[in-house]
Amino acid sequence: MWTSRGNTPTPRRDDVSEGLVKPARWEIASCACQRGSGGRRAWLRFYGELNDHLPAEARQRAAVMRFDVAPTVKCAIEGFGVPHVEVSLVTRAGEPLGFSDRIAAEDRIAVYPLFTRLDVSASGSVGIAPPRPTRFIADTHLHRLCRLLRLLGIDTEIIVRGEDPVTASISSRRVVLTRDRHLLMRRSLELGYWVRSMDPMSQVAEVVQRFDLAAQVRPLQRCSVCNGLLASVDKQDVARRLPPRTAAWLDTYTRCEHCGKLYWRGTHVDRIAATLEKLVAGPPVGGR
Ligand SMILES: [Zn+2]
Repeated sequence: MWTSRGNTPTPRRDDVSEGLVKPARWEIASCACQRGSGGRRAWLRFYGELNDHLPAEARQRAAVMRFDVAPTVKCAIEGFGVPHVEVSLVTRAGEPLGFSDRIAAEDRIAVYPLFTRLDVSASGSVGIAPPRPTRFIADTHLHRLCRLLRLLGIDTEIIVRGEDPVTASISSRRVVLTRDRHLLMRRSLELGYWVRSMDPMSQVAEVVQRFDLAAQVRPLQRCSVCNGLLASVDKQDVARRLPPRTAAWLDTYTRCEHCGKLYWRGTHVDRIAATLEKLVAGPPVGGR
């Protein structure tokens, strides 16, 4: 079963912080909900790691939202910068809401993340749990994260020039990894994750822990260049491609079944793999 971490406390009246938060800056310009001077108001309370998307003063409390035309749940949530793909459940007075439901004046809405101990398959949930085993497609800017995940054996493609990442995700059931929140707000996208860390080594630990990938980690079994699988190869068959000093002491080699790149266990790759294994076995990421 797909599980994750973090508690989801019940919203309390004293969480409300009216006026502390500016009205959400609407980020989807084509939506009619965004127009108007804001004569009505509602409150949204985000839980768990959804707070990572909010400014510090808006975290862990109810944030006021002002509007004229009743927005959809999806539009309201994303108006605060929170991508819908990271949301598992939305409730109003304890009753689940869908992304296309409308928010009414004076509503108090609770928004829960995918990465909680909530059963996301429960009735009324809006979130889609990533398929197992989990596969990814990384944004172009995350090419170093992509290569590190491949070194751990995690199936990770990279978005190529001209490719639509949403279409690619839908057709391959891969989770989009990106630092671009607007990309994750595309309506048809179901599987996506905003990578919090900036450092590639921290990013790979974050992704492995968030998606509970420990059981999928198989270091040095996938090509870091093209994501192909590595297969053992006879030393004799590749002798002409080996540096003489390597061939003198090592007999075990693997080759990418897709691009033909040759691999062997050297101190450099071993050190990276050992560092990655240590990182992914580290303490839980986030967990508020
Ligand atoms: Zn390859």
